[in-house]
Amino acid sequence: MSDPSPLAPGAIVGIIGGGQLGRMLAMAAARLGLRTIVLDPAAECPASQICNGHIVADYDNITALDELAQRCDVVTYEFENVPVRGVERLVGRVPVHPGTQPLEVAQDRLAEKDFLTAHGLVTAPYAVVDSQDAISGALEAVGGTGILKTRRLGYDGKGQMRITADGIPVDAFAQLGAVPLIVEGLVDFEYEISVIAGRGVDGSMTSFEPSRNEHRDGILAASTVPSGASDAVIAEARRLAALLLESLDYVGVLGLELFVMADGSLLANEFAPRVHNSGHWTEAACSPSQFEQHIRAVAGHQLADPVRHVDATMVNLIGDDVDDLAAFHADPRATIHLYGKSDTRPGRKMGHVTTVTPR
Ligand code: AMP
Repeated sequence: MSDPSPLAPGAIVGIIGGGQLGRMLAMAAARLGLRTIVLDPAAECPASQICNGHIVADYDNITALDELAQRCDVVTYEFENVPVRGVERLVGRVPVHPGTQPLEVAQDRLAEKDFLTAHGLVTAPYAVVDSQDAISGALEAVGGTGILKTRRLGYDGKGQMRITADGIPVDAFAQLGAVPLIVEGLVDFEYEISVIAGRGVDGSMTSFEPSRNEHRDGILAASTVPSGASDAVIAEARRLAALLLESLDYVGVLGLELFVMADGSLLANEFAPRVHNSGHWTEAACSPSQFEQHIRAVAGHQLADPVRHVDATMVNLIGDDVDDLAAFHADPRATIHLYGKSDTRPGRKMGHVTTVTPR
């Protein structure tokens, strides 16, 4: 279905997924005068406290998807594991941005690596692993030390195992669920950055300055701008993000994670077809934020080239980090953002804080 003219205030954006990303998208939409309807099976999902309507149903529930298509002017999604056939149900009835192809590519690490390399981005060496017996040959092919990863449904370091040629557990394949895997060569990177980039319905593209990202236990812990990367690395990172946006004929914002090597070259780790945790600093440091940029894109509005007003560090509040906010409350440079989750669990993202300083 072709896009109508830019959505006017009062129009309705459907969001598949009601986690914190859906919640922050709904907040950005509200600021632009747009309404939101979220589809999420959890009655108490974070976005339910913010959006104008909430359809409580599974992502592949046909009746719910039909209702979403019927009530919304455009539909987007906030996470990459939405069933593709659910989104296909919407196509042709309501504009869906980004469409099904970015989902198909991002849902499978093999399809993702194949797509990235076919379109001019360099990745870590990788090989398919479909059985325990295949591990040692595949590991040798990628350099002898690597990370086994489930092809599907891995996130925040879950579904991953580091292995070396002389230390492959006899039950490694079973430990990862006996599901299709890839093995990636271990990359000896200097540091990690990501680029949040957006593309409008008119094909115009913009990107935020890359942030430098630190992970702890496989989960993003902090993102900082400026990243300390050279101008050449920053320009190359932005070029790669633009290449990816064009290759996917993408509308909306995506996050591209990159490894920076000692010689300044960049390897693509993965991309997320959505707003990204490493772009949360943009809400406190930029106009527009990544959330507004995404809503603008899917609503058919013009994108703005983002301006960063301040230096910023975003830290995630993970698990019981959220119980100790006194120091942040006392800091006028800190913007606290909690996600409205009632259960605190270890490893669960409960909120984030962005601390800014004048440039
Ligand atoms: P992923 O879920 O694939 O993004 O991996 C989570 C984190 O694990 C990355 O941000 C890196 O810090 C690390 N990692 C993933 N793949 C590799 C690799 N091939 N070599 C070295 N570190 C990696």
